[in-house]
Amino acid sequence: MEQGYKTVRTVCPYCGAGCHIALTVDTVHNRIVKATGANGRTNEGRLCLKGYYGWDYLTDPQLLTKRLRYPMIRKGGKGSPLERVSWEEAIQYTAERLQAIIKEYGPDAVMGAGSARGPGNEAGYITQKFMRACIGTNNVDHCARICHAASVTGLRASIGEGAMSVSVPEIEDAEVIFNIGYNAATSHPIVARRVVKAKAKGAKIICVDPQITETARIADIHLQIKGGTNLALLNAMAYTMIEEGLVDEAFVKAHTEGFEDYANALGGYAPEAMASIIGVPAEMIRRAARLFASSKHTVTLWGMGITQFAQGVDSVIACSNLSLLTGNYGHRVTGVGPVRGQNNVQGTCDMGVLPDVYPGYQRVDDPKARAKFEKAWGVTLPATPGLPLTLVPEKILRETDPKKQIHAYYIVGEDPAQSDPDLTEIREALSACDFVVIQDIFMNKTAEFADVVLPATAWGEHDAVYSSCDRGFQRVRKAIEPVGEAWPDWKIQCAVATAMGYPMSYTSTQEIWDEMRSLSPKFYGATYEKMEALGGVQWPCVDPSMEDRGTEYLHEGGTFATENGKGRLLFAPYKPVHEEVDSEYPLSLCTVREVGHYSVRTMTGNCRMLSKLEDEPGWIAMNPADCKRLGITTGDLVYVHSRRGKTITRCLATERAKEGATYMTYQWWVGACNELTIGMLDPKSRTPEYKYCAVRVEAI
Ligand code: SF4
Repeated sequence: MEQGYKTVRTVCPYCGAGCHIALTVDTVHNRIVKATGANGRTNEGRLCLKGYYGWDYLTDPQLLTKRLRYPMIRKGGKGSPLERVSWEEAIQYTAERLQAIIKEYGPDAVMGAGSARGPGNEAGYITQKFMRACIGTNNVDHCARICHAASVTGLRASIGEGAMSVSVPEIEDAEVIFNIGYNAATSHPIVARRVVKAKAKGAKIICVDPQITETARIADIHLQIKGGTNLALLNAMAYTMIEEGLVDEAFVKAHTEGFEDYANALGGYAPEAMASIIGVPAEMIRRAARLFASSKHTVTLWGMGITQFAQGVDSVIACSNLSLLTGNYGHRVTGVGPVRGQNNVQGTCDMGVLPDVYPGYQRVDDPKARAKFEKAWGVTLPATPGLPLTLVPEKILRETDPKKQIHAYYIVGEDPAQSDPDLTEIREALSACDFVVIQDIFMNKTAEFADVVLPATAWGEHDAVYSSCDRGFQRVRKAIEPVGEAWPDWKIQCAVATAMGYPMSYTSTQEIWDEMRSLSPKFYGATYEKMEALGGVQWPCVDPSMEDRGTEYLHEGGTFATENGKGRLLFAPYKPVHEEVDSEYPLSLCTVREVGHYSVRTMTGNCRMLSKLEDEPGWIAMNPADCKRLGITTGDLVYVHSRRGKTITRCLATERAKEGATYMTYQWWVGACNELTIGMLDPKSRTPEYKYCAVRVEAI
């Protein structure tokens, strides 16, 4: 390494694959000059384009001018301009406004949102501690609510643990991959590589997706179902397994409960009865069920094509049922992979940035767990779960009792004015909220409604731990000094807590991590030293000695994390989507991702290299037959209308889209598809039905 340069080993900030990166840093000019793949457990030295090129917003002088560099307040109240203030004034102002709201309406009038992006697990731990111990509420949540909360809720009900049971490297050794509602090529390119490797080694692939995705192209069976019929299909596959004697009876007898009731309830789900609803021939459904059951190394992978429906939780349980029925749990290279999207959405769940659990998934309504946290934090904690963030608009706009309304919304590193469904409603709610605080790295859409804007350090400017999608704690390292006056997120919330009279003070992220470990038995063994020595540690890891190197796969020997150790076979009936297409809105809309961008593009949209690849506006992908009917073709500007709003975008005619279905990425600021999406929620996880609403496309 030349003088004046250093190499910093860290983890990519762009998806749950958790790829290791080596950054070359010019220490003289405080800038990153290159990123290359480092040999991590999941990526083996490889990166996708976001890992290679997604960092110039940190060092490019022009892009740096767009960063939030100092604290700002709307001194003149709502509608007035944001004005630069000192950190002292910003912290004091925030503390006083929060205290006044708590005094008038109580602590449950405050909602907190944590970040699953750059800040890391230590910041997540501080966010939930700030909300619980300082504010006094369990109203804390994060973007898992709008993506994989259904996986956590469903898998907890089925097998007692909400995370991936299988590891990313195991995928390439699978004999059968059941890929449902998941496009790895755009979501997690490095996970997609494992799927391709498995195929090359002889694995059979079943792909369930209304789109012709990259995985569909290499699938042995592609079930191009009608959008919104996942549960009908999964129940029909379970029916086939039972009817055709494909069930692993010994496994079911020894390791599950509820089989009789489950089998009886499936009576009406013969593939022949379901085929017209699902939109694929009955024999294909039967073939898929036979192939799934043919191996003890069947790995199920899913993404938001399962979870972002009003029946997301039931569909997650139904996926798990197939693994329980066929003995596909409890050993290496099997089980389920709800593959988390954002780089640290697994970790933000791990840290208890959720309304119902403390760090380590300890329930807030468990008196023993609560007593432990009360003792450690020196406070009395609320005993009932808090508010999921998807209910915030309702609690601002439609709750009539002022004491039950949300009056303050403290948002760390998220952008609900871009990411939440039905943006008209979110904008109304943010406008009506008495006090909104934003901590972020760029001015985002939500900051337009903020009373206080606080500049946070970005990935690359602070230390942290991220959790990969397969439960892997990995160290993220500071490479350069922060821009302007930005502070790490954890330091900001500690300062606000202290100003509110609840002192929180730490000298390093390791000190925070060690406090979190001491309260979380599942994570106690995952020390910084161990992560340093091993490159990462998969939880559960209970013993700090090097004897315990973490856990590659869950539920060893078919012992599940439920109270009696058994997996639960639970039935739910299929229900149609909430908003069917009709003559006024004849096309369905499904939200998807763009491979070169990440989430709502707070980082990648401000990145020169990635913007060169694809910049606004986005597109609406449609089947050529639908385009022909409307007299439009690729590149044409169109309006897309739904019952909630309209947006402008360009048409992309493609055979990938099934006739009658359309697709838009949720990532564009212009042509934002969440102007159209519906706020209908899964009743158990409160996850929105982003994947299906009715729209009309109109040529301009
Ligand atoms: Fe980063 Fe995900 Fe790409 Fe890996 S696959 S380089 S973690 S965006």
